[in-house]
Amino acid sequence: MQQDIKRILISRDQIAQRIAEIAEQITLDFANETSGDITLVPILTGSIIFVADLIRLLPIKMLIRLISISSYPGSTTTSKVALIREELTNLPNSLENAHVLIIDDILDSGQTIDLVTSVLLTKNPASIKTCVLLRKDRPNTLNMPIDYVCFDIPDEFVVGYGLDYNDYYRNLPDIVTLHPQVLQADNA
Ligand code: 5GP
Ligand code: MG
Repeated sequence: MQQDIKRILISRDQIAQRIAEIAEQITLDFANETSGDITLVPILTGSIIFVADLIRLLPIKMLIRLISISSYPGSTTTSKVALIREELTNLPNSLENAHVLIIDDILDSGQTIDLVTSVLLTKNPASIKTCVLLRKDRPNTLNMPIDYVCFDIPDEFVVGYGLDYNDYYRNLPDIVTLHPQVLQADNA
């Protein structure tokens, strides 16, 4: 696994430091919500490690509900279609009075968070905020406003700290890029 790594983009120490900052902001913002539940909605599977680290720094009474999305790559990255995987989703029927925080690993085109937001809006939450570990700098990103962004990164394919390539590499503690031959081997 180590030999597949091209370079470390964001180290485990940088991640930990930045998550502590973001956690402080989230705590301040949500501490004011005295009415209704605070409900975190992590998007599976990529956000699991981020969420595990983040929530332990949030001294807030909260619920956690899960949603799973699969993206099916089309001929170009812009034509990806996002679908809800019902079997791995446990959203309540109603989110009335809930202050929701959607959490994802990476904002790329914005399709995933856009879909999740529209699904959650149908459940009438009191408010919705969004949080991502990474946001890609690419021209065709939907104009999705994100409330909490840990890192802006260049438009490169990254893995580690929960992010996968073909479901591998999620356990790498740093956020890294892979050697082109590792990615090409699969596309050949
Ligand atoms: P979007 O819907 O914003 O285009 O894409 C978000 C999803 O695409 C993420 O949740 C993630 O699963 C996947 N994704 C986008 N860019 C990357 C990347 O650089 N690395 C990995 N591992 N997944 C990515
Ligand atoms: Mg994902």
